[in-house]
Amino acid sequence: MSAATLRRPTLDAPVIQPIVPDPLLAVVGADLPVPLVTGGERRFVHLDYAASAPALEAVVEAVQRHLPWYSSVHRGAGFTSSVSSEALEGARHVIREFVGGRADDVVVFTRNTTDSLNLLASVIPDDTTVLTLDIEHHANLLPWRKAIVRHLPTPSRPEEIAGVFAAALAEVTTAHALITVTGATNVTGEVLPIASIVEAARRFGARVAVDAAQLAPHRAIDIEALGVDYVVFSGHKLYAPFGSGVLVGRRDWLDQAEPYLAGGGAVGTVSVQHAEWLPSPARHEGGSPNVLGAVAIAAACRALIDAGPEAIAAHDHALLAHLDRRLAELDGVEPVTVFGLDGDRIGIATLRLPRPAAEVAAALSAEHGIGTRDGAFCAHPLMRRLFDHAPDGPVPNALRVSFGVGSTIADLDHFVDSLATVLRDGPQWDYAVQHGRLVPTPDPRPRPTPF
Ligand code: PMP
Repeated sequence: MSAATLRRPTLDAPVIQPIVPDPLLAVVGADLPVPLVTGGERRFVHLDYAASAPALEAVVEAVQRHLPWYSSVHRGAGFTSSVSSEALEGARHVIREFVGGRADDVVVFTRNTTDSLNLLASVIPDDTTVLTLDIEHHANLLPWRKAIVRHLPTPSRPEEIAGVFAAALAEVTTAHALITVTGATNVTGEVLPIASIVEAARRFGARVAVDAAQLAPHRAIDIEALGVDYVVFSGHKLYAPFGSGVLVGRRDWLDQAEPYLAGGGAVGTVSVQHAEWLPSPARHEGGSPNVLGAVAIAAACRALIDAGPEAIAAHDHALLAHLDRRLAELDGVEPVTVFGLDGDRIGIATLRLPRPAAEVAAALSAEHGIGTRDGAFCAHPLMRRLFDHAPDGPVPNALRVSFGVGSTIADLDHFVDSLATVLRDGPQWDYAVQHGRLVPTPDPRPRPTPF
């Protein structure tokens, strides 16, 4: 198996260290020690933010502040019920502000991005064509069964994407069209040119939904300024892992549709034969809402607004530039991209490696205390394209690192140094496949139990 060797930096390429020594915002678990299979322990380095980010301390504090007041919402007669109801409704305002929503945009609470996209798919009018790209996460590829769907081939130049959509829109014969596109891919971190896509959509009277599961934690989104009709994201990727997601957007389709979750809370009066469904958001939020999840997302939105989108993007760019520079020291290691490394990217990199990704990820975790991810990241069509597999060929397995506001240069240095060691020396422990994953065998590490 080929081993990576350290490449010498050339003399005419001075290495400039960006000054980002600290996390931008405090996250829970930043100093968490984890045991290593080889003995001892070390501070955990979390490089799997794109899957689920750690909670912001500000989020946990907001949830803890609300807990004594936690109560049933809307119909409870107690004082705590009115406080909880106001917290739930107030959360919608903060979230609307976070995404630059219009005053009449509806904020619907869901479980996560997948749920939000399924909700949107359930409310589109019958006569709708849905256009999306072939680089999407499965959550944005699969829910559109009710519509005519076209998964368009993504051009390798981002400035051509709007033209691809325009050409497809010119052929649409249905009454409605919806473009649904990711704001940033969860595999390569590349940011999509939303403004030009919206401009193409407008020319054809189509609507645009943005899957901001990855974009929202890293970049400002101003849906009113951009002219985006719907935006969706998950709390657990936005430093608010309390089980909530959101759909924000235009009211008309939401109010014309059948309720997504029929039940108490979604109706006014009910007879055995008839239900008088309420307007959105209540119409689609049947059952008792996740008040703490809503408080958590709103607290995360508030913390990110206060930190400032420019500071978040600058932190991201500095870390990414450092990662790129350090990875360039390793032979046979390179980030994969759809459009190339020059465009805007958020804190995500999927790597081509000279060793199997599953083996590297397992050793990085068990021997070096680093949480990365190997797999195909719920984006099989994109992964096949990036790794030159046939569209119906086997699904590649790769290593992904992702980071955010709690990450530091030291985290990335520990990752690159450990990666170099694993690629050079190979794993220093035995690993076996269990439930489809490579795990240390034996695994002597003690585990805490939450209960
Ligand atoms: N879209 C994108 C771009 C994602 O990265 C993810 C999660 N990996 C999803 C949608 C689905 O998010 P969730 O699992 O929170 O529903």
